[in-house]
Amino acid sequence: MSPPKKVDVNPDEQIVLREWRELIVENYENDIARLEGLEESVQGFHVEHALMDQKDTLRRFFHEKPTRALELGSRIMREQFDNHHIPTRPVLRVVGLSENYLNRVDDLRMRDRNDLVSLDVKINEVSHAYGWLKLAVYECMDCESRVEVPQRRARERESPVLCRPCLNQAMEGFKNTDIPRSFIRPQSDFLMVVEECKYEDVQDISMSQITYNSEHHLINCSTRNQILGTITDDLVDQLRPSTYMRINGIVRVQPVPDRTFSKDTRRLLSIDILSVEELHIEE
Ligand SMILES: [Zn+2]
Repeated sequence: MSPPKKVDVNPDEQIVLREWRELIVENYENDIARLEGLEESVQGFHVEHALMDQKDTLRRFFHEKPTRALELGSRIMREQFDNHHIPTRPVLRVVGLSENYLNRVDDLRMRDRNDLVSLDVKINEVSHAYGWLKLAVYECMDCESRVEVPQRRARERESPVLCRPCLNQAMEGFKNTDIPRSFIRPQSDFLMVVEECKYEDVQDISMSQITYNSEHHLINCSTRNQILGTITDDLVDQLRPSTYMRINGIVRVQPVPDRTFSKDTRRLLSIDILSVEELHIEE
């Protein structure tokens, strides 16, 4: 089996990649084989957290850097899907997180940013589905070289300032002159290549902390302790208001949605939802 083509991984991440591959091949090979012929463009793929817990480096890495761990896992999933000639884009959905990740909405603070959490909630509202520009592709109007700029949701779109190849060429030209470098004010013009940009489907949801007893009878649904979350890809259109869910995700810090000026420093916590598991709760 050939290693992933990208070389932007450090030695620790190399081990993570190896452990992901072992985990997926050992436990999910047959499930992947069964997806051959699939025609969806994107497919969520459940991976049990207990299996990750058995891999020393992966367990620690997923705890410390969940976003990066999932990026690396996605490469392995992509590789395995390719082995089975499945063109569908796989999305890793880690389920069954250990109980130590279970938190409460009212306990979350800014310092929990980027941490992995599970929350037991009632889904209140689900927004209409919309898309956002996840990766913008620009082309230099002078030399036509392309630059990819990853974007952040609900932030101003970022575009490149300078074109590397053009800058290098300009510096070459200045080499044999006496003009001080600080006098050089290079500028580049870019055009966004709309067709090459990558978009993601999302839905915003609002949820409330719930409390229930050991028989799964609802004790309380908090009207005060609410939090926003975002679901993407295959999870879009899968959640209904007034249902009970355990959501697993990563704590994020977002600007307040109705800010009136772009440098507003107020921030809210929200959850990038990685997976959802239905809770059978009786009211
Ligand atoms: Zn250029």
